[in-house]
Amino acid sequence: MGKPKIVVLGAGLGGTIAAYEIKAAVRDKADVLTISGSETYSFVPSNPWVAVRWREPEAIQVHLPPVFHKKKIDFTAVGAKRLDAAGKQIELNDGSTIDYDYFVIATGPDLAFDEIEGLGPHGGHTVSICQTSHATSAADAFDRFTQSPGPIVVGAVQGASCFGPAYEFALILDTELRRRKIRDKVPMTFVTSEPYIGHLGLDGVGDTKSLLESELRDRHIKWVTNARVTKVDPDVMHVEEIGEDGAVRKTHDLPFGFSMMLPAFRGVPAVRGIEGLTNPRGFIIVDKQQRNPTFPEIFALGVCVAIPPTGPTPVPVGVPKTGFMIESMVTAIAANLAAILEGREPTAEATWNAVCLADFGDGGVAFVAQPQIPPRNVNWSSSGKWVHLAKIGFEKYFLRKVRKGESEPFYEKLALHVMGIRKLRL
Ligand code: FAD
Repeated sequence: MGKPKIVVLGAGLGGTIAAYEIKAAVRDKADVLTISGSETYSFVPSNPWVAVRWREPEAIQVHLPPVFHKKKIDFTAVGAKRLDAAGKQIELNDGSTIDYDYFVIATGPDLAFDEIEGLGPHGGHTVSICQTSHATSAADAFDRFTQSPGPIVVGAVQGASCFGPAYEFALILDTELRRRKIRDKVPMTFVTSEPYIGHLGLDGVGDTKSLLESELRDRHIKWVTNARVTKVDPDVMHVEEIGEDGAVRKTHDLPFGFSMMLPAFRGVPAVRGIEGLTNPRGFIIVDKQQRNPTFPEIFALGVCVAIPPTGPTPVPVGVPKTGFMIESMVTAIAANLAAILEGREPTAEATWNAVCLADFGDGGVAFVAQPQIPPRNVNWSSSGKWVHLAKIGFEKYFLRKVRKGESEPFYEKLALHVMGIRKLRL
């Protein structure tokens, strides 16, 4: 009998380091294969910088095959078509199939632009920063916009869960427009499904409400909260403001010359709609060990994992899944797979702490929510120039890790332990 086969689906922020960490944990007890849709890794958190040309796309990308080869991890960039969870098999886009013993889903989000007429970069009227290719097109659109400036609308639509990048992008645009000395020609509005500024899908962290309100006020950015975007025309966004009772309180027709709205996320087609595996939005159901209860050989990590909202809100708002939380899921899965292969019970639990740095170019806001759902043991937020530098540090550290195929360098462990933040529940 051959070795057990562990297949990791997706080579984004979570999947790439999951492959490295799982291989380091199971060593020669199993073969590890990663299925990606591309040979290129892109560091998504730097996309807002690409969209204003503070970064060239190539600076945040890594060519993966040589790194995987060096780490003795099999790799294909053919992409997956459909998972057969009951048959323990995955069909690839070229029609071939791969059998597995253990399967790790790290497919990130499917971007639900189609849920709102006129939204998004594929035939719609708003740009996107969710993928690096989108951010590259957004940079071209922003350059054209600066030739003939007008109003800007930035934010996150109903059902979105990733609010940090929306604030980050609004404030980065403000910084860049000031640098180009045309900020005075650009009225800006922040439109969000959050019930209040700084909610972030987490019912606020520390003082994020005051911090972010103050940042928006200081920079003359107006806002609309509890917003439901009904339609986007080529130069007007139609928005309903929803009251506590669910009724429409007010409508806004917001003209724009440039707009970026984060969409709602859902599970990707390859794994969506599998009874027992996914919730109605196509996110993967997992237990505390990141394991699916119906198909216990399947684990999941990152944005594709189902996490319930922190509480009811007038407009649906999801929970963000940030980098450190994703790394904590990776560490738990690697430990659990190693335990299973050694015949032990898989008991490692990820902490799901939310740690986030939102950079504005000349400053930023950082927060740590531990655990995610209040009341919390750590509920801290802060702002200042140091956040910009910390975010550059995060980018450099993460890209180094992906380029080298490192699972966890010593200094990372040390720094996080010093901060009292751990990836696994002890
Ligand atoms: P992804 O990184 O999206 O990776 C999923 C991968 O799976 C993709 O490469 C995709 O192509 C692949 N895939 C999907 N379907 C298939 C298939 N059928 N076959 C093969 N491959 C497939 N978090 C932070 O902590 N800090 C930040 O500053 C931050 N900034 C963000 C900025 C933006 C604009 C966004 C959108 C998110 C940000 N996040 C940030 C949140 C989060 O860290 C990122 O979204 C992160 O990339 C999520 O990692 P992931 O592995 O779950 O998904």
